[in-house]
Amino acid sequence: MSCANDDLKALIRTIPDFPKPGIQFRDVTTLLLDATGFAAAIDRLAESLPVKPDLVAGIEARGFVVGAALAQRLGTGLLLVRKHGKLPGETIAEEYALEYGTDRLAIHVDACAPGADILIADDLIATGGTALATVRLLRRTGARVTGAAFLVDLPDLGGADRLRAEELRVHSLMA
Ligand code: AMP
Repeated sequence: MSCANDDLKALIRTIPDFPKPGIQFRDVTTLLLDATGFAAAIDRLAESLPVKPDLVAGIEARGFVVGAALAQRLGTGLLLVRKHGKLPGETIAEEYALEYGTDRLAIHVDACAPGADILIADDLIATGGTALATVRLLRRTGARVTGAAFLVDLPDLGGADRLRAEELRVHSLMA
């Protein structure tokens, strides 16, 4: 799919050695600044989905941007998957490993109905640690997590394959 989205790929810049040496940071802020590119990215992700989910779950922080736009485009609600300690109600949490560091993600325990079909959304998938923690978290509520949408996939890091092993459909615009 990456060839078809070369126009969008050109809008994402790479910042070398951020946040630490050796990381090639794929910066989507430049895509978001471009009205046509941002809208096209969300349209193309939405059009690649075989079914409309019940909810989109956006992962803090850039996943909120992608997830909110996608939820509006699909006509679904948005579930916020937040860094631990930010949500005001009763929460459940899961630890995860990033390409750089570790953290914990949380959701409200009553954020989704058991059996709800959920699509997770983030700007980028690398090792898949963040997305897999989100899948575990959502599944603890009894939700069905059937798909994941990203602007960028870093396939060499294997995250998308790990999600497919968990029976998720993975949608990304570019590698
Ligand atoms: P991972 O858990 O390894 O799949 O990492 C994905 C999360 O970390 C996403 O929320 C990304 O925003 C961020 N991330 C990891 N690696 C990069 C990268 N090379 N460029 C930009 N964001 C990244």
